Amino acid sequence: MSVSEILFVVAGALLGLAFQGGMFLFLIPFAVVAFSLAIMNRPSLPSNTSVIPVIKKGDKRSTALSPVVTPDIRNEFMNTVKVESNEPNSSLRVNQVWERANSDVDKAFGDILRCLKVLMPQANTLTIFTNGGNVNEFRLRTFQSDFPNIIDMGAKITENMGILSKLLRPEVNRILEGDLLVGKRLPYYIENRMIRSLVGVPLLDRDGRRLGALMVDSLHPNAFTDAEAHALMYISQAMYTVSFKSFVSAQNYIEQQQFSTLYRYQRKFFQTMSVKDIYKQMFEYVKENMPFDRLTILALDDPKKGVGHVVYCVGMDSEQFTNKKFTLSDKGLFVMPLMNKRPILRVFNSGFADYVPRLNDSEKRNMELRQLFVMPVASEPDSKVAELAICLESRFTNRYQDHEKKLLKAFAGVAGFAYARACQFEKGKDLATRDPLTGLMNRGALRESMRTEKIRAERQKTNIGVLMMDIDHFKKVNDTYGHPVGDQVIKGIANVISNEIRKDIDIVGRYGGEEFVVGLVDVTPEGMIETAERIRKSVGKLEFPILKPEPLRVTVSIGAYLVTPEFTDMKKAVSNADQALYKAKEGGRNRVVQFEDIEPAAV
Ligand code: GH3
Ligand code: MG
Ligand code: MG
Repeated sequence: MSVSEILFVVAGALLGLAFQGGMFLFLIPFAVVAFSLAIMNRPSLPSNTSVIPVIKKGDKRSTALSPVVTPDIRNEFMNTVKVESNEPNSSLRVNQVWERANSDVDKAFGDILRCLKVLMPQANTLTIFTNGGNVNEFRLRTFQSDFPNIIDMGAKITENMGILSKLLRPEVNRILEGDLLVGKRLPYYIENRMIRSLVGVPLLDRDGRRLGALMVDSLHPNAFTDAEAHALMYISQAMYTVSFKSFVSAQNYIEQQQFSTLYRYQRKFFQTMSVKDIYKQMFEYVKENMPFDRLTILALDDPKKGVGHVVYCVGMDSEQFTNKKFTLSDKGLFVMPLMNKRPILRVFNSGFADYVPRLNDSEKRNMELRQLFVMPVASEPDSKVAELAICLESRFTNRYQDHEKKLLKAFAGVAGFAYARACQFEKGKDLATRDPLTGLMNRGALRESMRTEKIRAERQKTNIGVLMMDIDHFKKVNDTYGHPVGDQVIKGIANVISNEIRKDIDIVGRYGGEEFVVGLVDVTPEGMIETAERIRKSVGKLEFPILKPEPLRVTVSIGAYLVTPEFTDMKKAVSNADQALYKAKEGGRNRVVQFEDIEPAAV
């Protein structure tokens, strides 16, 4: 084995290790040294190849690491505007991870160039160009030069740039020039440096796509050999691997973070069965993970009627949307994803004259919000509409990108499932506690509710008024008009009672077929009778348009019992009210009788 072959093996081994990424990346410069030494120690080439020039003694060569160009313009743009936006930690972390990956790659590239500079003393400037996402254009990423002060940091290689443009073409796998025209300026020099020799190779990915170029120039004619051009190709391949591995490891890291946040919220979702809690957790997740200048969360309450409401709205001009109702026929941008279950990503350019309504035409037109991203949340994969929508808006036109889209899409899946589960639970709970005909509490729920109110009343030393009521001669209604009409009457009376008592304070339930019980919280004896009379009179005024020309009218009888703080038996209280009701029936119906007024003998 020749020295050259041994060096090739050593270089290969070092590169192999370096490809593992991480801490092994530092081996790359050594691998490059080994590679280059191997090439230089190869049995000599035929003597008619390029002449290696003699370097003049006075030449000064700098090996200082040159500044690095970061191609991530997104961050540069973001930092120029200072306004209060929701910039969550997680999106800052994502930027940091990419910055870190970028700087790792820059460091490795810089090391390689420094190493090459030592091994190729005839070189004056070494550059690395990368495409930054644009296939037809390479930008200067980093360099190593004897003339760092006249390198143009914004230099680009585009089509029609003479010899350098060749590296953009798919059929060219290297350039090697030893006799460049004097007077021709290379695009990365601010002034002409009379460059005579140039060697360059493309940076290719695994599929042969051009990601950039590695180039070395020299003031000397015929400064580079075929063998050196060959060596640069190997090095450019190693550079691609370093860059690719860094990209993959950054991406993996970010995805791992996203996954663990999602997992955390999934667990949170499963700790609750309430729809309200689900809304709240959605809001918190978006705040924690998404950047925005306005966030709006919509809920479609009745998919059949197409009506819903704004659950949360924060940020710019949010007051106008808070608690607002909407209908699907309003045709705002926010509701579109509810209808077709597809996310929307829209950009409004500064020249955009027409405002596109978010919820309806009458809203305040905010022209500053320039990017909109709406993600629908559907409870079932095969449902026709989505029940929820997360609407994000930003003043920047490029705020929502792949990372944000992927993250929110995954979250929408989890949230939709949790929402469906909570809805089903609440519906089940409702079925178990509500009377289906009137929507009032059923007997069991009423008993529970009375017990809870009694505990509170004892603590607060207040009374509870218990009213027991029964429709008069109801059998006759059924017999004359039929059961369905009887049901309508029961429903109508339930409505009247609900309207005459204090909403969310007093309680009412359907006690039996055509009997209702009302609990009046914190009431005086007079207040109790007043309310009972009010209900009785309102029922009497109620008209059911059955009998023509005369409408059907019904009356109720009411028994009342006042539960003072000292009286603790609620079962007995209801039975007392029932006895008073019996007296009311006996006394001729359509009246209110208070238990306390019944003669003791009658009790
Ligand atoms: P009174 O004035 O003495 O109360 O006479 P009444 O005819 O109303 O007698 P009672 O209260 O005993 O009548 C109960 C009737 O209510 C019997 C039943 O047919 C009817 N009923 C009970 N539940 C329902 C219901 O859900 N729908 C309908 N349509 N009728 C019901
Ligand atoms: Mg009855
Ligand atoms: Mg009755």
